[in-house]
Amino acid sequence: MQVLLSKAEIQQRVRELGAEISHRYAGEPLTVVAILTGSVILVADLMRELSIPHEVAFVRASSYRGATTSAHALVTDLMGLPDLSHRHVLLVDDIFDTGRTLERISKEVQLLSPASLRTLVLLWKTARRDVDLKPDFFGFQIPDEFVVGYGLDFNGQYRHLPEICIFDEKSAPTLIASVGSE
Ligand code: 5GP
Ligand code: MG
Ligand code: MG
Repeated sequence: MQVLLSKAEIQQRVRELGAEISHRYAGEPLTVVAILTGSVILVADLMRELSIPHEVAFVRASSYRGATTSAHALVTDLMGLPDLSHRHVLLVDDIFDTGRTLERISKEVQLLSPASLRTLVLLWKTARRDVDLKPDFFGFQIPDEFVVGYGLDFNGQYRHLPEICIFDEKSAPTLIASVGSE
């Protein structure tokens, strides 16, 4: 698989984002809310680059493809959230593609009346946005390619790769076989 962003490039950029967030939220009560599962590696690295006190919480977003339609139904679960009133919330996801996931979770978190709400993603596929929302902070703008690694999966696999790779079906024959049998 072709490496799009190396481990060193990602580490450097996450360090910069950590410094930027630490500066922006200095003196404020910050809660980082990460969207499972793709953001786990990013949030673990990002929080260790923050030099300010902060809490971390997780929400879940899953999209399901219907049996007879290609439309995705987005299912969210915000049960894991603490009280966010008087907290500044930074919503973290792995990638902004159409933006529907972040837009939906943003609206739901907004209903919990945080002091402020901003969004951060590692990757932004700028070609595909179909919502008004844009990420407030992002690591890299990338082309419209399906990527895996650093938390991002294909069929549940590849999240552990330390770099971001452009997914190549030919390099993954066993996984393709398992998708075909679903
Ligand atoms: P959106 O709602 O912005 O269209 O999609 C966001 C979600 O779709 C991400 O959190 C991620 O789970 C998934 N996604 C979008 N693009 C990619 C990609 O290139 N690779 C992987 N592995 N997941 C993606
Ligand atoms: Mg996701
Ligand atoms: Mg996924």
